[in-house]
Amino acid sequence: MPRFFHRPAAHDIHAPSLELEGVSVAYDGIAALEDVSFSVRQGDQAAVIGPNGAGKSTLFNVIAGIVKPQRGSVRVYGSGPRGHICVGYVPQRNRIDLRFPVSVHDVAMMGRIGKIGLSRWPGRRDKQIVGEALEQVEMQPFASRQIGELSGGQQQRVLLARALAQEAELLLLDEPLGGLDIPSQEAFLRILDRLRGRGITMLIATHDLNQAAEQFPLVMVLNRRLIAFGPPEDVLTTDILSQAYSSQMHVVHTRQGELVIADTCCNGGQPPVPQMLGTEPHDLTARVESQVELANR
Ligand code: ADP
Ligand code: MG
Repeated sequence: MPRFFHRPAAHDIHAPSLELEGVSVAYDGIAALEDVSFSVRQGDQAAVIGPNGAGKSTLFNVIAGIVKPQRGSVRVYGSGPRGHICVGYVPQRNRIDLRFPVSVHDVAMMGRIGKIGLSRWPGRRDKQIVGEALEQVEMQPFASRQIGELSGGQQQRVLLARALAQEAELLLLDEPLGGLDIPSQEAFLRILDRLRGRGITMLIATHDLNQAAEQFPLVMVLNRRLIAFGPPEDVLTTDILSQAYSSQMHVVHTRQGELVIADTCCNGGQPPVPQMLGTEPHDLTARVESQVELANR
């Protein structure tokens, strides 16, 4: 049955935004998530990192109620994930077809369906909320353009506007920066930054370890199991990263010291992008290097 025929789920404002306990998912008997437990509080912004196939998209599908876990529980504001119109999901870009002839305004208005229902037309308040959502993502000037005519970065911002128009309190953004050029990535990150402090809880899957370290107060490291979850300075250590990336991570000796290079592959058939965790003395590399040094002592 389509989702909007469900009665909206109960919403306990005192419960954590999101709480998973012992969640396991397998596809055809092969584990994609195993015994994943964590909780996030309202307003937390966490990057979810892990190699290709780590279960990041599966995790988001479970939270959005699209995939049912074989074991464990998912609670969004105290109740099961289905029927939560407060969960806004921006799926991985290569998983949605944006060639259909719909305007930017209409895509954002789709976010209102859960609130409007099917029986009435959008009212003044709905239009105002959609206008504000488009403004927040700097896409108001493009409101009457067809979604298919836009660049990847602009489309991504419209999908974010749709989630904002939904008045989502928990946002799941699955690799929103994948395949975008640097200026588009920066524009998107600037928008996320502005949403901080508005009490919207966000999980953002990314394969860019630098971005995770620099842009997000919390980082979740996933590879089928939850390997670590906490502030980047506690989580982005050689030990934890090598548990997550194992064969895909290399420690390279350079004249400046050791560098950790993660060969992560974006979905969508793009080639692996080697990522260096910086070379500045104050950044993570310094910490990673000192840990490598300590380990070698
Ligand atoms: P990530 O987003 O971290 O790349 P996914 O959640 O997409 O990881 O995939 C985790 C594992 O589950 C992979 O091995 C993938 O092939 C598998 N998988 C994901 N979705 C399905 C599905 N619908 N059917 C079968 N296997 C799937
Ligand atoms: Mg994915």
